[in-house]
Amino acid sequence: MSDTFDKDQKAFVISQLRKATYKWKYRTEAIRKARIDRGVYICATCSKLMMAKDFSVDHKTPVVDEKGFVDWNTYIPRMFCHTDNWQVLCKECHDIKTQHEKEGRKMYRQKTKPKVKTSKKIKEPDEELF
Ligand SMILES: [Zn+2]
Repeated sequence: MSDTFDKDQKAFVISQLRKATYKWKYRTEAIRKARIDRGVYICATCSKLMMAKDFSVDHKTPVVDEKGFVDWNTYIPRMFCHTDNWQVLCKECHDIKTQHEKEGRKMYRQKTKPKVKTSKKIKEPDEELF
């Protein structure tokens, strides 16, 4: 049996972890804090009022930052964070933030590309030692 964790397994585990956050008490607590009246919630960014069906519950510090997926020991505690790292956003604000984070990851990948080449070049003299 292979001990590698393939793409399908990873995608499945992530989707299940995401579902599990719906029952996470600190997420529920953040939603309760954003509730200003019966069925009315306020966006943490633009203060727009909205119904429960219209908001997204967001991780202020993204679960996957600009460096991309690191490991499960980083991913899981970020996913199941405390109340102060959750915020309720309207769809527009959430889309903007998500887009911004996506661009940040893209820029990070572009920035780190030459470093990969550099590290390969550094390895070459080492290989000569053996
Ligand atoms: Zn908003």
